[in-house]
Amino acid sequence: MGDNRSNVVRLVGRAIGDFDLIKDGDSILVAVSGGKDSYTLLDALETLRRKAPVKYGIMAVHIDTGAPGMKSDLVESYLKQHGYAYRIEHTRILQVALKNNKGKKLLCSICSRLRRGLLYSLASKLGCNKIALGHNMDDLIETLLMNIFFNGQIKSMPAVSVSDKYRVTVIRPLIYVKAQSALDYASSLEAPLIDPECPVSMRPQLTNRQKVRKIIAELEKGHPFIKDSIFASLTHINADYMLDKLLREDKLND
Ligand code: SF4
Repeated sequence: MGDNRSNVVRLVGRAIGDFDLIKDGDSILVAVSGGKDSYTLLDALETLRRKAPVKYGIMAVHIDTGAPGMKSDLVESYLKQHGYAYRIEHTRILQVALKNNKGKKLLCSICSRLRRGLLYSLASKLGCNKIALGHNMDDLIETLLMNIFFNGQIKSMPAVSVSDKYRVTVIRPLIYVKAQSALDYASSLEAPLIDPECPVSMRPQLTNRQKVRKIIAELEKGHPFIKDSIFASLTHINADYMLDKLLREDKLND
């Protein structure tokens, strides 16, 4: 295994340990979109599964959103070739999202909500108590800045969260892995990366995420460790210097 791959597997193992993401007997649905992060996540979890003292199962699930160029057959061939237990779900989620969206800007949030709902119901149908998503460190940083810039909130994505409604726990084992490392890892697997032609990705104007990504890339030229610093800020929140009354009250009540 190359240096990058061992390093990514080590970081995934660290996230699992830090946030207690996987327990003995877990059955984990791994969402495989066909993007770099999903292949990296799947392979890293499988690599750890083979040597971990904790016993857990993996079920790869790919949702074909109905977007042109989805190429789910390539994803399926990869999963079959590597001996994964898998399920391919063909849907028309994108068409439903487009219909409900009526030209507004919220297409991605409708589409993601529909996909998330389907993942939850598939998890319970397939007997999985956990869903692993491939959000990486860059995703967390971008989400944090997007929420600050456009939503007036300081929040990112949790490493672990529980849906009481669906009785399923969502985990994000790639939180310590940078996007470039995930891409290098997926390339080393020779996994078929797919890039569906969604109307959002075809738009000429930048999405808010792309705008934030551009700002970070620009700043990174002069400050190579800027991503590490933004990410570290998520673990060092000083309530005394924030204006959130609830946060301050919590602190006073401790
Ligand atoms: S880019 Fe397209 S496929 Fe992806 S979440 Fe947005 S609408 Fe859905």
